[in-house]
Amino acid sequence: MSSPHFPHLLAPLDLGFIQLRNRVVMGSMHTGLEDRFWNYGKLAAYFAERARGGVGLIVTGGISPNRTGWLLPFGGTLNCHADTLNHRRVTRAVHREGGRIVMQILHAGRYGYHPLQKSASPIRSPITPYRPKQMTESDIRSTIRDFARCARLAKLAGYDGVEIMGSEGYLLNQFLCRRTNQRTDDWGGDIVARMRLPLEIVKAIRAATGDQFLILYRLSLLDLVEEGNTWDEIVAVARGLQEAGIHILNTGIGWHEARIPTIVTSVPRAAFREITGRMRRELKIPVIASNRINTPEVAEDILASGDADLVSMARPLLADPHFVIKAASGRADEINTCIACNQACLDHTFSMKRATCLVNPRACFETERTASAARTTKRIAVVGAGPAGLACATTAAERGHRVTLFDAAEHIGGQFEIARRIPGKEEFAETLRYFGRRIETTGVELRLNHRVERTELEAGNYDEIVIATGIRPRTPAIAGIDHPKVLSYLDVLARGAPVGASVAVIGAGGIGFDVSEFLVHDASHERDNSIAEWMDEWGVDPTSSTPGGLKPALRPNSPRKVYLLQRKNSRVGAGLGKTSGWVHRLTLQHREVEMIAGVEYERIDDLGLHIRVNGEPRLLEVDHVVICAGQESLRELYPEPPAREGGRYHLIGGAEHAAELDAKRAIRQGSELASRL
Ligand code: FAD
Ligand code: NAP
Ligand code: SF4
Repeated sequence: MSSPHFPHLLAPLDLGFIQLRNRVVMGSMHTGLEDRFWNYGKLAAYFAERARGGVGLIVTGGISPNRTGWLLPFGGTLNCHADTLNHRRVTRAVHREGGRIVMQILHAGRYGYHPLQKSASPIRSPITPYRPKQMTESDIRSTIRDFARCARLAKLAGYDGVEIMGSEGYLLNQFLCRRTNQRTDDWGGDIVARMRLPLEIVKAIRAATGDQFLILYRLSLLDLVEEGNTWDEIVAVARGLQEAGIHILNTGIGWHEARIPTIVTSVPRAAFREITGRMRRELKIPVIASNRINTPEVAEDILASGDADLVSMARPLLADPHFVIKAASGRADEINTCIACNQACLDHTFSMKRATCLVNPRACFETERTASAARTTKRIAVVGAGPAGLACATTAAERGHRVTLFDAAEHIGGQFEIARRIPGKEEFAETLRYFGRRIETTGVELRLNHRVERTELEAGNYDEIVIATGIRPRTPAIAGIDHPKVLSYLDVLARGAPVGASVAVIGAGGIGFDVSEFLVHDASHERDNSIAEWMDEWGVDPTSSTPGGLKPALRPNSPRKVYLLQRKNSRVGAGLGKTSGWVHRLTLQHREVEMIAGVEYERIDDLGLHIRVNGEPRLLEVDHVVICAGQESLRELYPEPPAREGGRYHLIGGAEHAAELDAKRAIRQGSELASRL
């Protein structure tokens, strides 16, 4: 696949015994489908769609070589012939679409969420409740044999190769670093001894599978934990792996237990590309760049500048299976870009739910969430161009309906248009760009600056009417709520109301956190997306001259003092996303936001906000109080019965149910309704 649009990204790669059609690697992601044999049909459909979409090389989610290596109890394992039959469904489906696929072998070591886990040393990880047993010499020998058997079975199942998972703090990473390897035998000590297990595994796999079977190794280029490796040690390992016979080095950044974010949306795009570039110059084999690469432009730039030979994108291919084809055919502006929110992928995985995608609810549900062409063309009115209305209008139009989409605002996006103004959430604008383009390609008639009244809907003679009018912010009943120093989050974020040097934020849900984030950044609220500044703030030494690549952090100053308050006694921020909430909390802590739980609100007056905390009165002498106390549905256009009888009226998104609403639910509801109309 060659194209004038992204010549480096779409250039084939010839490894002699195997050719990849382009430089796009779909990185490994645990979807939950790989853990149960009855889901392999769905897994095959999921991968086949990405192969059809032009991906050069697919890497499966991690499969354990034995029970000790399980990530979760009874997780996907390949250790006997019978298992190869399920995997064959996957490999056949991908090969039928002209794709290539390698199976990732993952031994979780002390990250296993079960009591059978073992590691280099008996040191418990901060993210699992179990203390691992120390592997004996015999355990190590059998682990090497299990990796080799697993690779041999993968070959039998039709995979083009395997990827050995050696980064993110899993078993092989645990052997590589002093932090988790304190052995005094031949498998611990200096880096030569610590890298013995990975090298022996590569040699054993090579011996078991021959020269014509791809071997990738994913190596951590920055551990981002104390007692991680230094750059010299990491280079020594990479060279050792090259010598031992791997064909391609894939890269990883940071252990799962690291307290430095590596993939959430606030991490600058391609933040770690230079480190990959440095490694590439140390090796002869191709090197893959990863982490926060989500557009073809960024990927092309990495390859053109010589920082890598291939790019790994995992979540971006959940978000849009046709990423490559769109890029190749000059339709990059139609790509549904991953906004790195983690809300439906990693957050699901860590809650033991099947992964999917906030912006593409079809991901991992390819055989279930389908939208076939409509049998009869209907006239449909969709009121509200927030995420729910956008998904509904475009999906319905794609099915052949004639859709008019109204919004009172001058732009599409609803609350998502406000979310994108939060420092660190700039990526959200991509979803609006995507829907804007999709409105054009599907032929939706868009009517902005148009507040719809009920009479207009009735007079319009529509076959179906979808109310997606969203929410209004809740106004809590606090004495003094009408005081001039009280602002709503919309005043601050959407209307640009000036905010003083000290602020109390009432309500510590997602929006309270976002508003606080907005307030602790500079007046212009323009986030400095410089990679160097981001690394300084988080204490990342990109040269990794220190163990783990850590350096003292330079905490930025906040332009104002912020108090973030909630009534509950639970930890502030406990309800935020599983894999991103800790980043939001740390970001606010870095800027000295005072988070207070167990608050009773007494009154607001000229002095400030009077509260009680655990019964004790306290005055917060603030210039402003910003209300982020949740939301209520806005559904005046939804008629009462009997006017709505006949099934013409539909409610979706915040208009249907405001509590615990997020864009994930809004987009899914909009898409699902449209596929039924
Ligand atoms: P809305 O987005 O509220 O859209 C409703 C639309 O209807 C509006 O555009 C409005 O103008 C229009 N409308 C209303 N009445 C009429 C009328 N009579 N005529 C015409 N048009 C009308 N969600 C996440 O999942 N992840 C996040 O990280 C996240 N961050 C957020 C950050 C902030 C600061 C905010 C405010 C929200 C955030 N959200 C986030 C929430 C998310 O944006 C909402 O859940 C989502 O937008 C709800 O979608 P909706 O389509 O139901 O309603
Ligand atoms: P929310 O998550 O429901 O939080 C509302 C907050 O207001 C809570 O902290 C609640 O805590 C407080 N509150 C509720 N009623 C109150 C009252 N009467 N008086 C004073 N305080 C009150 O809602 P939100 O922050 O508005 O967010 C809306 C939705 O957007 C959320 O469901 C969320 O999923 C989504 N969102 C997600 C993200 C994200 O990063 N994923 C970011 C922003 C928004 P107490 O009752 O304990 O005080
Ligand atoms: Fe990307 Fe969010 Fe979709 Fe995950 S859920 S793939 S992070 S857009």
